[in-house]
Amino acid sequence: MNREPRLSHRGIGMTSQRTRERLIQRLYEEGLSDPRVLEVIRRTPRHLFVDEALAHRAYEDTALPIGHNQTISQPYIVGRMTELLLAAGPLDKVLEIGTGSGYQTAVLAQLVERVFSVERIQALQDRAKDRLQELELRNVVFRWGDGWEGWYALAPYNGILVTAAASQVPQALLDQLAPGGRLVIPVGGNGHDQQLLLITREEQGFVRQVLDPVRFVPLLSGPLA
Ligand code: SAH
Repeated sequence: MNREPRLSHRGIGMTSQRTRERLIQRLYEEGLSDPRVLEVIRRTPRHLFVDEALAHRAYEDTALPIGHNQTISQPYIVGRMTELLLAAGPLDKVLEIGTGSGYQTAVLAQLVERVFSVERIQALQDRAKDRLQELELRNVVFRWGDGWEGWYALAPYNGILVTAAASQVPQALLDQLAPGGRLVIPVGGNGHDQQLLLITREEQGFVRQVLDPVRFVPLLSGPLA
Protein backbone atom coordinates (compact mmCIF):
# COMPACT_ATOMS: atom_id res chain seq x y z
CA MET A 1 0.00 0.00 0.00
CA ASN A 2 1.28 3.45 -0.71
CA ARG A 3 -0.53 6.11 1.23
CA GLU A 4 1.96 8.69 2.33
CA PRO A 5 0.61 11.42 4.55
CA ARG A 6 1.22 14.96 3.40
CA LEU A 7 4.30 16.43 5.08
CA SER A 8 3.52 19.18 7.51
CA HIS A 9 5.82 22.04 8.32
CA ARG A 10 4.22 22.82 11.67
CA GLY A 11 6.72 22.43 14.50
CA ILE A 12 9.35 21.09 12.15
CA GLY A 13 12.20 22.49 14.24
CA MET A 14 11.45 20.38 17.30
CA THR A 15 10.64 17.31 15.33
CA SER A 16 13.62 16.98 13.07
CA GLN A 17 14.24 13.93 11.00
CA ARG A 18 17.07 12.96 13.37
CA THR A 19 14.73 12.86 16.36
CA ARG A 20 12.37 10.61 14.41
CA GLU A 21 15.21 8.34 13.29
CA ARG A 22 16.26 7.92 16.93
CA LEU A 23 12.76 6.75 17.79
CA ILE A 24 12.74 4.22 14.94
CA GLN A 25 16.15 2.91 16.02
CA ARG A 26 14.86 2.50 19.55
CA LEU A 27 11.70 0.68 18.46
CA TYR A 28 13.84 -1.67 16.39
CA GLU A 29 16.08 -2.36 19.39
CA GLU A 30 12.99 -3.02 21.53
CA GLY A 31 11.93 -5.75 19.12
CA LEU A 32 9.72 -4.28 16.39
CA SER A 33 10.81 -5.94 13.19
CA ASP A 34 8.25 -5.43 10.42
CA PRO A 35 9.88 -2.92 8.05
CA ARG A 36 6.51 -1.73 6.73
CA VAL A 37 5.36 -0.83 10.23
CA LEU A 38 8.64 0.91 11.11
CA GLU A 39 8.51 2.89 7.87
CA VAL A 40 4.95 4.04 8.54
CA ILE A 41 5.85 5.13 12.08
CA ARG A 42 8.85 6.97 10.65
CA ARG A 43 6.77 9.01 8.25
CA THR A 44 3.71 9.66 10.44
CA PRO A 45 4.00 13.08 12.12
CA ARG A 46 3.10 12.15 15.73
CA HIS A 47 3.63 15.76 16.83
CA LEU A 48 0.38 16.67 15.05
CA PHE A 49 -1.54 14.27 17.32
CA VAL A 50 -0.67 16.00 20.62
CA ASP A 51 -1.13 19.54 21.91
CA GLU A 52 1.49 21.96 20.67
CA ALA A 53 2.80 22.31 24.23
CA LEU A 54 3.77 18.62 24.14
CA ALA A 55 4.97 18.49 20.53
CA HIS A 56 8.62 18.49 21.61
CA ARG A 57 8.01 15.13 23.32
CA ALA A 58 6.11 13.55 20.44
CA TYR A 59 9.06 11.38 19.30
CA GLU A 60 9.79 9.98 22.75
CA ASP A 61 8.65 6.40 23.19
CA THR A 62 6.03 7.31 25.74
CA ALA A 63 2.28 7.75 26.13
CA LEU A 64 1.20 11.41 26.46
CA PRO A 65 -2.02 13.06 27.68
CA ILE A 66 -4.58 14.11 25.04
CA GLY A 67 -7.24 15.54 27.39
CA HIS A 68 -10.47 13.95 28.72
CA ASN A 69 -8.29 11.70 30.94
CA GLN A 70 -7.06 9.81 27.88
CA THR A 71 -3.62 9.24 26.39
CA ILE A 72 -2.04 8.79 22.97
CA SER A 73 -0.48 5.32 23.04
CA GLN A 74 3.27 4.79 23.26
CA PRO A 75 4.81 4.31 19.77
CA TYR A 76 6.21 0.89 20.77
CA ILE A 77 2.78 -0.46 21.65
CA VAL A 78 1.24 1.06 18.50
CA GLY A 79 3.89 -0.76 16.45
CA ARG A 80 3.58 -3.99 18.42
CA MET A 81 -0.21 -4.17 18.06
CA THR A 82 -0.01 -3.28 14.37
CA GLU A 83 2.59 -6.00 13.76
CA LEU A 84 0.41 -8.58 15.53
CA LEU A 85 -2.58 -7.59 13.47
CA LEU A 86 -0.69 -7.80 10.16
CA ALA A 87 1.38 -10.91 10.92
CA ALA A 88 -0.83 -13.33 8.96
CA GLY A 89 -1.01 -11.25 5.78
CA PRO A 90 -2.65 -8.14 4.38
CA LEU A 91 -6.00 -6.99 5.78
CA ASP A 92 -8.77 -5.27 3.91
CA LYS A 93 -11.22 -4.35 6.71
CA VAL A 94 -10.05 -3.35 10.16
CA LEU A 95 -12.17 -2.20 13.08
CA GLU A 96 -10.45 -0.01 15.67
CA ILE A 97 -11.99 0.63 19.09
CA GLY A 98 -10.76 3.81 20.85
CA THR A 99 -9.77 6.38 18.20
CA GLY A 100 -8.37 8.81 20.79
CA SER A 101 -5.96 11.16 19.04
CA GLY A 102 -6.21 9.17 15.80
CA TYR A 103 -2.50 8.30 15.76
CA GLN A 104 -2.96 4.52 15.75
CA THR A 105 -5.74 5.07 13.19
CA ALA A 106 -3.32 6.97 10.93
CA VAL A 107 -0.72 4.20 11.19
CA LEU A 108 -3.32 1.53 10.33
CA ALA A 109 -4.74 3.57 7.46
CA GLN A 110 -1.38 3.41 5.69
CA LEU A 111 -1.15 -0.39 6.00
CA VAL A 112 -4.63 -1.79 5.38
CA GLU A 113 -7.40 -1.14 2.85
CA ARG A 114 -10.05 0.38 5.11
CA VAL A 115 -10.27 1.35 8.77
CA PHE A 116 -13.49 1.72 10.76
CA SER A 117 -12.82 3.54 14.02
CA VAL A 118 -15.16 3.84 17.02
CA GLU A 119 -14.71 6.40 19.83
CA ARG A 120 -17.03 7.29 22.70
CA ILE A 121 -15.79 10.87 23.30
CA GLN A 122 -17.03 13.04 20.47
CA ALA A 123 -14.57 15.91 21.02
CA LEU A 124 -11.61 13.54 20.61
CA GLN A 125 -13.16 11.99 17.54
CA ASP A 126 -13.70 15.39 15.89
CA ARG A 127 -10.04 16.32 16.36
CA ALA A 128 -8.87 12.93 15.09
CA LYS A 129 -11.01 13.37 11.97
CA ASP A 130 -9.43 16.78 11.27
CA ARG A 131 -5.92 15.37 11.64
CA LEU A 132 -6.51 12.48 9.25
CA GLN A 133 -8.07 14.86 6.76
CA GLU A 134 -5.04 17.13 7.03
CA LEU A 135 -2.82 14.12 6.30
CA GLU A 136 -5.05 13.17 3.38
CA LEU A 137 -5.72 9.70 4.78
CA ARG A 138 -9.14 9.08 3.30
CA ASN A 139 -9.72 5.35 3.86
CA VAL A 140 -11.06 5.79 7.41
CA VAL A 141 -14.68 5.97 8.55
CA PHE A 142 -15.42 7.20 12.08
CA ARG A 143 -18.29 6.36 14.39
CA TRP A 144 -19.26 7.92 17.68
CA GLY A 145 -20.41 4.99 19.80
CA ASP A 146 -19.69 2.35 22.40
CA GLY A 147 -16.86 0.04 21.41
CA TRP A 148 -18.27 -2.79 23.56
CA GLU A 149 -20.82 -3.16 20.77
CA GLY A 150 -18.31 -3.05 17.92
CA TRP A 151 -19.81 -1.85 14.62
CA TYR A 152 -22.31 -4.50 13.73
CA ALA A 153 -23.66 -3.01 10.48
CA LEU A 154 -20.29 -3.26 8.71
CA ALA A 155 -19.09 -6.60 10.14
CA PRO A 156 -17.30 -8.91 9.68
CA TYR A 157 -13.75 -7.55 10.00
CA ASN A 158 -10.46 -9.28 9.16
CA GLY A 159 -8.79 -7.45 12.00
CA ILE A 160 -10.01 -5.75 15.18
CA LEU A 161 -7.71 -3.65 17.34
CA VAL A 162 -8.74 -2.29 20.74
CA THR A 163 -6.70 0.52 22.30
CA ALA A 164 -8.25 0.56 25.79
CA ALA A 165 -8.21 -2.24 28.37
CA ALA A 166 -11.39 -4.30 28.61
CA SER A 167 -12.37 -6.13 31.83
CA GLN A 168 -13.15 -9.11 29.55
CA VAL A 169 -13.19 -9.71 25.81
CA PRO A 170 -16.41 -8.13 24.46
CA GLN A 171 -18.62 -10.85 22.93
CA ALA A 172 -19.72 -8.46 20.13
CA LEU A 173 -16.12 -8.17 18.92
CA LEU A 174 -15.71 -11.96 18.77
CA ASP A 175 -18.99 -12.19 16.85
CA GLN A 176 -17.83 -9.54 14.35
CA LEU A 177 -14.52 -11.23 13.53
CA ALA A 178 -14.37 -12.85 10.07
CA PRO A 179 -13.13 -16.45 9.72
CA GLY A 180 -9.33 -16.27 9.94
CA GLY A 181 -9.65 -12.81 11.49
CA ARG A 182 -7.44 -11.45 14.27
CA LEU A 183 -8.40 -9.51 17.39
CA VAL A 184 -5.69 -7.68 19.33
CA ILE A 185 -6.92 -6.45 22.72
CA PRO A 186 -5.56 -5.52 26.15
CA VAL A 187 -7.57 -7.22 28.90
CA GLY A 188 -7.47 -6.63 32.63
CA GLY A 189 -8.22 -4.18 35.40
CA ASN A 190 -7.19 -0.58 35.83
CA GLY A 191 -3.87 -1.47 37.46
CA HIS A 192 -0.72 -3.30 36.44
CA ASP A 193 -2.39 -6.62 35.71
CA GLN A 194 -3.33 -6.11 32.07
CA GLN A 195 -2.28 -8.53 29.33
CA LEU A 196 -2.22 -8.08 25.59
CA LEU A 197 -4.21 -10.86 23.91
CA LEU A 198 -4.23 -12.08 20.33
CA ILE A 199 -7.39 -13.99 19.48
CA THR A 200 -7.75 -15.66 16.09
CA ARG A 201 -10.96 -17.08 14.69
CA GLU A 202 -10.23 -20.51 13.27
CA GLU A 203 -12.53 -23.14 11.87
CA GLN A 204 -12.78 -24.98 15.19
CA GLY A 205 -13.30 -21.82 17.21
CA PHE A 206 -11.31 -19.03 18.85
CA VAL A 207 -7.63 -19.46 19.67
CA ARG A 208 -6.38 -17.19 22.41
CA GLN A 209 -2.74 -16.25 22.98
CA VAL A 210 -1.61 -14.25 26.01
CA LEU A 211 1.26 -11.94 25.06
CA ASP A 212 2.82 -8.96 26.84
CA PRO A 213 1.93 -7.24 30.10
CA VAL A 214 0.61 -3.78 29.15
CA ARG A 215 -0.90 -0.63 30.67
CA PHE A 216 -3.88 1.04 28.99
CA VAL A 217 -6.69 3.37 30.06
CA PRO A 218 -9.91 1.40 30.63
CA LEU A 219 -12.48 0.53 27.98
CA LEU A 220 -15.44 2.33 29.51
CA SER A 221 -19.11 1.69 29.08
CA GLY A 222 -22.20 3.67 29.82
CA PRO A 223 -23.30 7.06 28.54
CA LEU A 224 -21.18 8.75 25.90
CA ALA A 225 -19.50 12.04 26.66
N1 SAH B 1 -5.13 4.75 20.01
C1 SAH B 1 -5.41 5.96 20.74
C2 SAH B 1 -5.51 5.63 22.21
C3 SAH B 1 -6.46 6.47 22.92
S1 SAH B 1 -6.72 6.02 24.60
C4 SAH B 1 -4.29 6.96 20.50
O1 SAH B 1 -3.17 6.53 20.22
O2 SAH B 1 -4.52 8.16 20.60
C5 SAH B 1 -8.17 4.99 24.49
C6 SAH B 1 -9.38 5.61 23.83
O3 SAH B 1 -10.45 4.68 23.98
C7 SAH B 1 -9.87 6.91 24.46
O4 SAH B 1 -9.99 7.88 23.47
C8 SAH B 1 -11.23 6.55 25.05
O5 SAH B 1 -12.18 7.61 25.00
C9 SAH B 1 -11.65 5.41 24.16
N2 SAH B 1 -12.65 4.54 24.74
C10 SAH B 1 -12.74 4.09 26.03
N3 SAH B 1 -13.82 3.30 26.16
C11 SAH B 1 -14.42 3.24 24.95
C12 SAH B 1 -15.60 2.59 24.45
N4 SAH B 1 -16.36 1.82 25.24
N5 SAH B 1 -15.92 2.76 23.17
C13 SAH B 1 -15.16 3.53 22.34
N6 SAH B 1 -14.05 4.17 22.75
C14 SAH B 1 -13.69 4.04 24.04
